[in-house]
Amino acid sequence: MKYRTLGKTGLKVSEIGFGGEWLERHEEEESIELLKYAAEKGINIVDCWMPDPKSRDIIGKTMEGNRDSWYVQGHIGSTYQNGQYVRTRDLNHVRPAFEDLLKRLRTDHIDLGMIHYIDSMEDWNNAMNGEFIDYVHRLHDEGIIRHIGLSTHNPVIGKLAVEAGFIEMILFSINPAFDMRPATEELESMFGGYDEDQLSGIDPERARFYQMCEEENVGLTVMKGFFGGALLDKDRSPFGVAFTPVQLIHYALTRPGVSSILCGYDTKEQVDAAVSYEDASDDEKDYASVIANAPLHSYTGQCTYCGHCKPCPKDIDIAMVNKFYDLATVQEKVPQSVVEHYKSLKHTAAECIGCKSCESRCPFGVKIAGRMVKASALFGC
Ligand code: SF4
Ligand code: SF4
Repeated sequence: MKYRTLGKTGLKVSEIGFGGEWLERHEEEESIELLKYAAEKGINIVDCWMPDPKSRDIIGKTMEGNRDSWYVQGHIGSTYQNGQYVRTRDLNHVRPAFEDLLKRLRTDHIDLGMIHYIDSMEDWNNAMNGEFIDYVHRLHDEGIIRHIGLSTHNPVIGKLAVEAGFIEMILFSINPAFDMRPATEELESMFGGYDEDQLSGIDPERARFYQMCEEENVGLTVMKGFFGGALLDKDRSPFGVAFTPVQLIHYALTRPGVSSILCGYDTKEQVDAAVSYEDASDDEKDYASVIANAPLHSYTGQCTYCGHCKPCPKDIDIAMVNKFYDLATVQEKVPQSVVEHYKSLKHTAAECIGCKSCESRCPFGVKIAGRMVKASALFGC
């Protein structure tokens, strides 16, 4: 298992994580065994947005005696009322629900205290002004939550969270289908209406949000990486083709700013399938060919950072050059951090000899040689 630094938190989290929402589908013992199996495979981050006692107890019993081997994303604002999940900023419900989380997780702290699920401006304004956010800061000041995070499906909210400064990481929904859709406050609308004329490459607002996360060192963890399973099924996939888990994991992990993808698991075999990413070949990870050969797609001309254009006779890491070029050109002034990252590449765009052998391998028709010239001019090397 490889580990990545999660933004400003500095925590080293496993690339493949554990999304806990299916735990309650199974007998308690079975789910505990599954979590322990995942830990044996090197998974060290688990998301617990769930307010129900069963899921929380399962995670708590799994961590008993080995609390330090897990990083927990615990949510503030996810409550359980009359046996139902209720999202709220009302402290009369938020506080007892968070205290219940600590108790059932058998812990005195939560590594990543997540401001739970904000998708609308109204909710953002409500949550960020008043007793809810005061409570979050108080938990942080007292060391009960070690880092402040936020979960959202809306890049507009994500950008506000990055700009807020005190939010160190974000749990965000990322997959190739969601990435084509404009920002919305209605999560449900993301699951339908993928008409052919709406498939027009990565939505600029989303792309900008990922870039901001990378620039500002706000770590991203990923939810809904498989689009609720629809992208694994040709008949439900908006692209008209099925992806493999490894391809979708690779897609998520190659977005700027991303540290970990949290997958849901019912079985040990599903854990194995996700963790097999670590040993997968470039061909097995290749989501780009799947998108490019899909009956429905239109990423043409956009670099998806897939790395499919390798090898370069000058050993230029074309995907990274393109990523830094995109990061640099979406804003008026090129950030120094991007320049430094670019300059630390072993081979820069200036070494490109314009052979264009890469271009025939790019499934998206990116004019790579021309971009190398532009990148070299922009960065001065
Ligand atoms: S230039 Fe094309 S092949 Fe290379 S990383 Fe970008 S999209 Fe992939
Ligand atoms: S055109 Fe430039 S980047 Fe592409 S393979 Fe040739 S040298 Fe490498």
